[in-house]
Amino acid sequence: MSTDHPLYIYNSLTKTKEVFEPINPPFVGLYTCGPTVYNEVHLGNIRTFLTFDIVYSYLTHLNYKVRYVRNITDVGHLTDDQDAGEDKIEKRARLEKIEPMKIVQKYTNGFHATTKLFNLLEPNIEPSATGHIIEQIEMIERILKNGYAYEVNGSVYFDVKKYAEKYNYGELSGRKIEDLLEQTREELEGGDEKRFFADFAIWKKASKATIMKWNSPWGIGVPGWHLECSVMSTKYLGKEFDIHGGGMDLKFPHHECEIAQSVGADKKNPVKYWMHGNMLTVNGTKMSKSLGNSFLPMELITGNHPLLEQAYSPMTVRFFFLQANYRSTVDFSNEALKAAEKGLKRLLEAINTIDKLSANETSTVDIDALINKCEESMKDDFNTPITIAHLFDGVKMINSINDGKESISTSDLEKLKNHYHTFTFDILGLRNEEQTTSSSNQTVDELMNLIIDIRNESKEKKDWTTADLIRDELKKLHISIQDNKESSTWKYEN
Ligand SMILES: [Zn+2]
Repeated sequence: MSTDHPLYIYNSLTKTKEVFEPINPPFVGLYTCGPTVYNEVHLGNIRTFLTFDIVYSYLTHLNYKVRYVRNITDVGHLTDDQDAGEDKIEKRARLEKIEPMKIVQKYTNGFHATTKLFNLLEPNIEPSATGHIIEQIEMIERILKNGYAYEVNGSVYFDVKKYAEKYNYGELSGRKIEDLLEQTREELEGGDEKRFFADFAIWKKASKATIMKWNSPWGIGVPGWHLECSVMSTKYLGKEFDIHGGGMDLKFPHHECEIAQSVGADKKNPVKYWMHGNMLTVNGTKMSKSLGNSFLPMELITGNHPLLEQAYSPMTVRFFFLQANYRSTVDFSNEALKAAEKGLKRLLEAINTIDKLSANETSTVDIDALINKCEESMKDDFNTPITIAHLFDGVKMINSINDGKESISTSDLEKLKNHYHTFTFDILGLRNEEQTTSSSNQTVDELMNLIIDIRNESKEKKDWTTADLIRDELKKLHISIQDNKESSTWKYEN
């Protein structure tokens, strides 16, 4: 670490940039809402996970001991994102005519394969909702005991009105309880069971047709979607922890409800810094399935989509996302992606050039200043676009040294090399896709093992899977298998 500049984080709760002070340094608890594994993750999801990948890697770079928890939602997320409709996974299971837990396994594997493709770091703990039913029941009991929930006909609802008498419901999302109170009773979901339309289910009575259901003190049912994150963050990070992340669309009701549940159960405001990543647009319009302008990661990598002029590699997409601030929307266009492709190539070429530079007695360039600028921009709420701009200033410098217009000392050359490797590969998590390295081999190896697993899994059903697509795409990316038992490595061709 080269500067004493503090790290600032934009806190969505206070709507200000605050100096980051962990509750229990050097330990940092980081929780991110993971995917609901009922279909392929879309590119907007990847952007969100990338944001917290950078938070994780940069905090680690600053020598914090980070515990990164990212959950898998495998039950309880209903089709309307609230208390109505069918469980998303069960619906998919019905459509695909297979067990819900097979859906969970299939799309969890697909999610993992996709995260590897985009070089996202694995979380330290990846808990699932179905693995924490006992803890969820216990939290409901605590909320009931404190008087912030009520039971009706086998379901338990969080009592928002009661909670709002003492606490600030809407603190995170900016919703006002007075406005909510004005809404009419017609907006009640889940029949007339709720006392107030903003109340939300923390336990829902299961119908006969429901496949995934559990016994509870209130009868057979299913936990509410918001509950799992409160339960799992409390279990693995404590009643109060440092950073909770997620996409902007989760602020309300999901994250607002998480706060209410934790406070309702344990009387502690659970999260010190809330961070929210912004959305993805396409050619200036909101990305949406119905408009036909939403992409799956694989469509981008294959170029197999009417809006795409060519295929773009996973690292091009990663670099493209990092060229925007995580709090801004990112607009997807072929022009922007092509520019990102060129930019990444230029950066990686400069890193190769560093290896060829020869050192002189003295430096005419200021490496420390460059390093400080990069650290300071990252410490300004993980500002990756500014950091990348500084790295490009350095590229000019590298080329000037290479042309003999500037000179660099031995120790500065070492610093320059470390700096570019640390920032490009460790912090920004980019990868040179044209080079075969042992780590990329390993990644592809793991990816292919997953694919083989999924293919075995879905042998009886010749359905379209992430795995099949990824296998085909790897071929197109010139990655082929070397069928050698001694060194079963994957090799990039050309
Ligand atoms: Zn969540």
